[in-house]
Amino acid sequence: MIITLDGPAGSGKSTVARLLAERMNYRFLDTGAMYRAVALAVLKGAGDENDLEAVTKLVAACTIEFDSDRLLLNQDDVTAEIRSPEVTAVSSIIASNPGVRNRLVELQRAIGRQGSMVTEGRDQGTVVFPEAAHKFFVTANLEARARRRQRELAHKGVNQSITTVMDQLRQRDERDEQRAHAPMKPAENALVIDTSDLTIAQVVEMIAKKVSG
Ligand code: C5P
Repeated sequence: MIITLDGPAGSGKSTVARLLAERMNYRFLDTGAMYRAVALAVLKGAGDENDLEAVTKLVAACTIEFDSDRLLLNQDDVTAEIRSPEVTAVSSIIASNPGVRNRLVELQRAIGRQGSMVTEGRDQGTVVFPEAAHKFFVTANLEARARRRQRELAHKGVNQSITTVMDQLRQRDERDEQRAHAPMKPAENALVIDTSDLTIAQVVEMIAKKVSG
């Protein structure tokens, strides 16, 4: 069984998806990490993230694999590196490139064929797994998302003002919602959950109940 969780950054969907997968004994797929790996490959190769053809070629030539919770780019463990602010910014630029999306969608479907999983991203319910058994769109207001993101960054020793974090999230949301290819939006049959005033545990509970039905 495939369960999809889509939604914007800072909505809590990653943490919720991970906990839900653990609870159900399903695999967990973080598709954002795959876009981040491509962004890192572009940055490492000093390539131009806006050059559609060059980035498409690059993504065709790299290997992106998960080894339990580690992400391997060309066999190197880049799990920590893909969380940097530079990678975050470039990831939403290369994500509008259809060549990149087609390749990553292929990889995601191949992972999906290996059995039950909880997958999270922006297009999992709309494009990648339209036949998924359960679809959720997890969101929250901008301020709540920015506060969570600011806390996450502070844990990593990165201190940013709330207005900076809000601006970055807004910019990323706009790119993700407005791109021509697979824009972020709830699937028609997705349940939309606003987590602004909910705890992670409450959201996990709500989804688990819905899934067990
Ligand atoms: O979820 P995360 O913040 O790690 O995703 C990084 C970027 O990757 C997003 O801003 C989005 O542009 C892109 N992405 C996407 N489709 C997905 C997952 C992530 O376009 N399924």
